[in-house]
Amino acid sequence: MARYIGPVCRLCRREGEKLFLKGEKCAKQSCPISKGRPAPGQHGTSRKKLSEYGQQTREKQKTKRIYGVLEKQFRGYFEIARRTPGVTGENLLRLLEMRLDNAVYRLGYGRSRTEARQVVRHNLITVNGKKVNIPSYQVKVGDVIQVRDKSKTLQRFKDVLDVTSSRAVPDWLTNDAENLRGTIASKPNREHVTYDLRETLIVELYSK
Ligand code: SF4
Repeated sequence: MARYIGPVCRLCRREGEKLFLKGEKCAKQSCPISKGRPAPGQHGTSRKKLSEYGQQTREKQKTKRIYGVLEKQFRGYFEIARRTPGVTGENLLRLLEMRLDNAVYRLGYGRSRTEARQVVRHNLITVNGKKVNIPSYQVKVGDVIQVRDKSKTLQRFKDVLDVTSSRAVPDWLTNDAENLRGTIASKPNREHVTYDLRETLIVELYSK
């Protein structure tokens, strides 16, 4: 599956806020947003009022960027969310949260979603005892996500856990930190998405 490979801080600068795409650097003063860097491009410093369509588009772009999903796949998530009973916007966010790379990130086995995606791609994760290397894999309630036994001792995970062990794991997941094993305890709900996202704008955009 295609993914964005350009400079990620540029994406935050474009949205004018921290999207936390780089792990530990995001908490440091060297973060371009903390330093007040403007949006990229010639007109980066000018702040014009966005039209309704502009606001909807920006909200969609921001959400895609946070979860590392490109347009085609994001649109696919929206279609599933629309067909699923319940509130479409919340369904959409739930589908994004229940991606395997996101669950791995939330469990603290990656400092960023990009790193969590890499961990999955590199065959370091099992789901219910079976190797799964598809970042977009949808986890289900009861699934057990584990770092493979032979990978647990890798320096890579020691470095990751040094950074993530102080991070709170949301309560839709249970984490056995010692064994690097997590379980999907329940489906995430809207309150579990801690970003300032206005998903109704995305629904409005795609409903035109
Ligand atoms: Fe965004 Fe993190 Fe880069 Fe700051 S350091 S601009 S939060 S990716």
